[in-house]
Amino acid sequence: MPHRVAFVRQSTYESASLRASIRRAIELADVDISSAAGKDVLLKPNMLGAYLPEMGVTTHPAFVRETGRIFREAGAKVSVGDSGNGVHGIARTWEATGIGAVCREEGFQELHFEGCGSLPCGDFMISAAPLAADIIINLPKFKTHGLTTLTLAAKNLFGCVAGMQKFGLHRTYARPHDFAMAVVKIADAVRPALTIIDGVVGMEGNGPSAGKLRHLKVIAAGCDLFALDAACCQLVGLPPENLETLIAAKELNLWDPAAPIDIAGDPLEELSVADFALPATYTRNLQQGWLSRHAMKLIWSQISARPKIDDGRCVRCGACVAACPVSAISQPHREKKPEIDDGICIQCFCCHEICPYQAIDIHQSWPVRIARWVAEQNMKRLSRHLRRAKERR
Ligand code: SF4
Ligand code: SF4
Repeated sequence: MPHRVAFVRQSTYESASLRASIRRAIELADVDISSAAGKDVLLKPNMLGAYLPEMGVTTHPAFVRETGRIFREAGAKVSVGDSGNGVHGIARTWEATGIGAVCREEGFQELHFEGCGSLPCGDFMISAAPLAADIIINLPKFKTHGLTTLTLAAKNLFGCVAGMQKFGLHRTYARPHDFAMAVVKIADAVRPALTIIDGVVGMEGNGPSAGKLRHLKVIAAGCDLFALDAACCQLVGLPPENLETLIAAKELNLWDPAAPIDIAGDPLEELSVADFALPATYTRNLQQGWLSRHAMKLIWSQISARPKIDDGRCVRCGACVAACPVSAISQPHREKKPEIDDGICIQCFCCHEICPYQAIDIHQSWPVRIARWVAEQNMKRLSRHLRRAKERR
C-alpha cells in the first residue's frame, strides 16, 4: 500500500486556524489521535540554537503549542525535547525559540536531551529521552541545509544525538553522502510515529540558519519519513533522487523512488513553488551529470563551496572556533576575526550553521556555480511538469 502524505494550506501561526490545520493534516495522514490516550508523547521540534521564532530557523513555538494541545486533549502526557547546536547554550536556546515559554504555559515537560544520558542504538549513541517515549512526533522546520540541501523529516532527527556529540559525527562522516547515511540510520533507529513539518514560514537559500524566509504556507504530514521527504522535494521542485538523505535511504533499502505516494489534502500543484532557492552548496547535479562520483571525489577539495568569514559582520565571539569539529578555525588575536584553514576544513558548515551573527558566507567556486545552474534548470523542468499536470486536472 502506498505511503500517505498530507499537505494542508496554512498561512499564519494564529492559534485557532493553526490548530485546525495541524489536526486536519494528522487526520489526512491516517493517524488516529485517540490512540495516544494514556501514552507519553514526545514532540521533537527543530531547536537548532538561540534563534527567535521570526528568524524562521526553528520550529515555530505556536506550532509546538498547538500540536501539544491536540495530543494532550487526546489524553496523552506531552513532553518536548531536543538538543541544539551545543554552542548557544541550552537555557538561551529554550528561551529564544519561545519553546521554553510554551512548555511552562502549557505544562509540557521540557526535556533537554543533553542531560538525559545516551544509549547505544545501532551504530550511534542516541539520547535516552526519545528512546524512552511511547510515541515520538517529529516537528521539523521546512528549510534548506548546507550539507543535506534540505532539512526535512529525516534530518530533524539528528537532534536526537545529544549536544557536542554531533560535532564528533560531523568529523567522522565529513562528506555529504557519508553524513546523510549517518542521519538516515539515526532517523530509522528513532522512528517517530508521525512527522508534521512546519512550512508555514520556511527558509530558502543558505539555511539552516542564514537563509531567507520563504512563506511556503504549508503543513506537511506523514508517517513514513522518506515518502514525506520525497513529496516535500516535489513541493519545491527538487528532484527527490537528488536529496542526499533520500539517496542514503535508497541505499539502505528504506526508500524506493519508484513507489507511488498517496498524496492527500490540498493539491500539491497548487501549493508548489517554482523558484525555491537552494543553498550555495547544492552540487548534486554536477556529481550525477557530466562527472562521475569518483571523478568528483578527486577534485572535490578544489571546487567545493567553502565557508568565508565576513570581517564586517563578525563580532569576534569565537563560537565558530568552538563549533568546528576538526579545529580548522583559529582566532590567534581576540580583536581579529577567526581564520579558517582550508587545508583542514571538511566543509561540514557547522560554523555557518551556528554563527549567531550570520557572519559566515558560503563561497562558491565556478564549477559549483555551473552545478547550481544545471540544478536550477532541472527544477524549472519539474515545475513545468507540475504545471502541466495541474492544467490536465
Ligand atoms: S564568524 Fe560568527 S561565530 Fe565566528 S567569531 Fe565571528 S561572529 Fe562569532
Ligand atoms: S571551518 Fe566550518 S565548514 Fe570547515 S570544518 Fe570547520 S566548521 Fe566545518
